[in-house]
Amino acid sequence: MKFHRQTRKRYYEDSYASHCQASIIKIEADMVELDVTVAFPEGGGQEADHGTITLDNGRVLRFIDAKKMYGHLPGIAGFPDVQVGGVIWHKVHPDDVSLLSDLHIGDSVTARIDTDRRARLMLSHTASHILYVAVGMIRPDAVQATLGCHIRMDGARFDFGVTERFTPEQISQIQACANDLVLRNAAITMSAHPQEPDLRSWHCEQYQIACGGTHLDRTGPVGRLMVKRKSLGSGKERLSCSFPDAVFDTARFH
Ligand SMILES: [Zn+2]
Repeated sequence: MKFHRQTRKRYYEDSYASHCQASIIKIEADMVELDVTVAFPEGGGQEADHGTITLDNGRVLRFIDAKKMYGHLPGIAGFPDVQVGGVIWHKVHPDDVSLLSDLHIGDSVTARIDTDRRARLMLSHTASHILYVAVGMIRPDAVQATLGCHIRMDGARFDFGVTERFTPEQISQIQACANDLVLRNAAITMSAHPQEPDLRSWHCEQYQIACGGTHLDRTGPVGRLMVKRKSLGSGKERLSCSFPDAVFDTARFH
């Protein structure tokens, strides 16, 4: 069932938007809902943005998490678990909760994200897809058995439900394929499903991945990718990547 409110997701219109004007829709004990936000809520493995909400009187509240609430499953093939619509709640820093009494429904505010954190998460998320594409070339069975992923500022990892472990040879092949894609500095685009704009896909060369995260628009800035394997016990393998030479472009935010 569709929730009756929906937050406008400014990060889908422009992933380099650092701030937006917004109105307060709802205030909870430590949460604020706005009509529009630049803050990406945790989802698809990508951690949430942090940032600030500035009131008209100049006071600033920090938020330390953003959460998607009351989405619904649209039941469209190819996106089995993706919730769409719904609202985004900004979790207020414990030290700033007392400022919530200054807020009123309908107040005009400015929402702003920590662009250094976002730039790192966008790059890490892009790196995770490059790794995933490379795993698909060498171990398509693992891609079919993906259990989950986690995207942090300094690295990303995937867990695969496979009994056949990744050999050191396969790891170096995966790393080489991933680095080829980085070196080609291939263009990355996003598309939205025609019936449901919140269902999005990542495209790079001939590869496509269903994903609602935020990404770079080229592979090059990821730099050299390093791939590591970790065994999680029987039937579970973890691959993680790091990117020691990455170029974080915070100057592109506006
Ligand atoms: Zn993605």
